[in-house]
Amino acid sequence: MNRRAMVAGNWKMNGARDFNTSLVHDILFDARGFTDIDIVICPPAPYLDSVGRQLEGSSLQLGAQNLCEQEKQGAFTGEIDGSMLRDVGCAYSIVGHSERRALYGETDVRVMEKFRTGQVHGLTPILCIGETLDERESGQTEAVLARQLGAVLDACGIAAFKQAVIAYEPVWAIGTGRTATPDQAQQTHAFIRAQLAAADAKIAGSTRILYGGSVKADNAEALFKCPDVDGGLIGGAALKAGEFVAICAAAQARNK
Ligand code: PEP
Repeated sequence: MNRRAMVAGNWKMNGARDFNTSLVHDILFDARGFTDIDIVICPPAPYLDSVGRQLEGSSLQLGAQNLCEQEKQGAFTGEIDGSMLRDVGCAYSIVGHSERRALYGETDVRVMEKFRTGQVHGLTPILCIGETLDERESGQTEAVLARQLGAVLDACGIAAFKQAVIAYEPVWAIGTGRTATPDQAQQTHAFIRAQLAAADAKIAGSTRILYGGSVKADNAEALFKCPDVDGGLIGGAALKAGEFVAICAAAQARNK
């Protein structure tokens, strides 16, 4: 199955107007030849509009880091709904990032609601799932992933994954400099794909599963070579144009 590789940069809570302008300028210039992959930039919400304008006319796409689970606008102070994200040009939204699950109490059900609402508004969710170090060391990795994925699969159905991306992000690898080995990533991605395949083999074969967790220029190639790793969700390295573009180059090479 030929899946188009994707690299998504999650800036997290980092950025400022001048910094963003120069980072996006450099990425646009250096990544202009990467036409065989999808590149998505996910800046903090206040900068979505300006970064989106800067991406106009390029093949790079805009993504949000989070969205409100409510389908309709209204009295939800501080929240941002899917229609607003579409309005400023977002094509994607990350949902269920482990920082949101751990720091802001997002449950599997809440993540599922965000996934569903995002799709209602025409956004492609990038659904993050991943185990903690304790969970991995106590042999619970597969059970945790099956639970997190199952919450969305059961409620939204397998057909919802025709328009969704999964990011496997082991919590112990996020921002720690400690990355999963290619073998660990491949094994876990194959498990996730098998979960989807149990519901529909064709959709499972076409769903992109990204790896996230301390991906850098020097480990991206080995990770992206794994047959079930379709690209990366990049945190820290997405804030440095050179690193981010080198990661995109590794994804582009995988597609050849
Ligand atoms: C992330 O925040 O999704 C992430 C993978 O971060 P980092 O690349 O910094 O580990």
